[in-house]
Amino acid sequence: MNKRSVFTAVFLGLICLISILMIQYIWINKTIHAQKTEIMIQMKEDSLNISRFTQKAHEALSSVLNEISYTTKDSSDRYGAIRQISPNMYYVEYQGDLEPLYLENMLKREFYSTHITNDFQYALYNCFHDSVKYSNLIRFNVDSLFETTNIAIKHPLISFSSNSHYFAVFFPGMITHRMDDVEDIGSPWVFLFLVSILIITYLTYSVYVIIRQKKLSDIKTDFINNMTHELKTPIATIGLSSNTLLNDDFSHDSERLKRYASIIYRENKRLESQVERVLNIAKMNKNSTPLKKSLFDVHEFILEAKETFDFNLEELGGELNIELGANKYCVFVDPVHIKNVIYNLLDNAVKYRKDDYLKITIRTRNDKRHLIIDICDNGVGIKKENVNLIFDKFYRVPTGNIHDVKGFGLGLYYVKTIVEQHGGMIQVKSVPDKGTTFSVFLPLRVKDLE
Ligand code: ADP
Repeated sequence: MNKRSVFTAVFLGLICLISILMIQYIWINKTIHAQKTEIMIQMKEDSLNISRFTQKAHEALSSVLNEISYTTKDSSDRYGAIRQISPNMYYVEYQGDLEPLYLENMLKREFYSTHITNDFQYALYNCFHDSVKYSNLIRFNVDSLFETTNIAIKHPLISFSSNSHYFAVFFPGMITHRMDDVEDIGSPWVFLFLVSILIITYLTYSVYVIIRQKKLSDIKTDFINNMTHELKTPIATIGLSSNTLLNDDFSHDSERLKRYASIIYRENKRLESQVERVLNIAKMNKNSTPLKKSLFDVHEFILEAKETFDFNLEELGGELNIELGANKYCVFVDPVHIKNVIYNLLDNAVKYRKDDYLKITIRTRNDKRHLIIDICDNGVGIKKENVNLIFDKFYRVPTGNIHDVKGFGLGLYYVKTIVEQHGGMIQVKSVPDKGTTFSVFLPLRVKDLE
């Protein structure tokens, strides 16, 4: 999959996502609008019904109050004695004493005669005891009209401290639409938001998978290119030499014969070792390498390595400096593998040099629990976006089609695997065009820590 296809797939995915979200947005908006209109109509109807109901309730309660005044022979002014607390709740003040059942009967009769057929609850408040002395729920039944239930419902508004007697009437079944109901319709947006998050997560994950697949396919292509490049030269040399051996007459020139035979032998060995190296590292899994551990003097080895590298660097134009600052420099490791690790890092410092004078520094230091080996170079460096990938199997920093530096992208994978198998870790700091520092942390033995 090339870059263009990835871009097209992501672009089409985004268009689909935006279209789905837009359609959802339009539909939800339409539905909300329709619901709001419906509630507004309902509210208007409600308010008409309520004002009609209020009028009838007032009428009924006035008749009840008149009758109470008549019975108790109370001739005081009854103005303001009926108070509407909410569309379905009334307080009625009266003088004297009142029997609950007598009140209940009057309420039933008056509500029936004013065509109020709602369930209602009434409660009698006694100002001497500052408490509700009786309350009851009355249900309307088409056959038997109002039925007493003997259920005393507690309602926060039914009792309020007062200096006078009063009874409260409450119509529990009356549903009124409030303006809040219109505002509450905002909840579909939560749904839309969640769906969007889900779709975005899905799309992001798909893009991640596509990009990862692309990277894997790039790595595969790179690996095949490198492999072809690395194997072609020895195969071509063997082909040429064997062709000469076949076609020329060597009966009088045993020296030449030997030379061609040794070329074939040498190139064949090179091929063999390359294939072996690739196969061995490719097969290597974490925890799979058997380690033969012994005490290893890292400083002694670094001095040895310096001798080998000084010789090569003299030819290439460069130098290897060492700063052996660690106090504890003997570690319990597999010397063969740790030597390979250091050689791999030094080889890379040489391979990825710039045209300038190459400067490599090997530094050793200790932290509380490790011996740390820093290998610094002033080479080409690694871009930030590639740094995290360089330890992956077969990964090589892309260089387009230029294969001037040979390799299979296995060196650092090997280095990391071995270091981690020893209980250590590897860190890398790199600045493009300035250089790279690899830091290998090898754990010290507990008895060496004191
Ligand atoms: P190889 O060298 O065979 O490509 P490695 O696993 O050793 O594989 O390295 C992986 C990649 O990391 C290399 O392709 C190279 O781009 C980058 N790299 C490794 N060491 C250095 C270094 N010292 N300086 C710059 N880049 C490096």
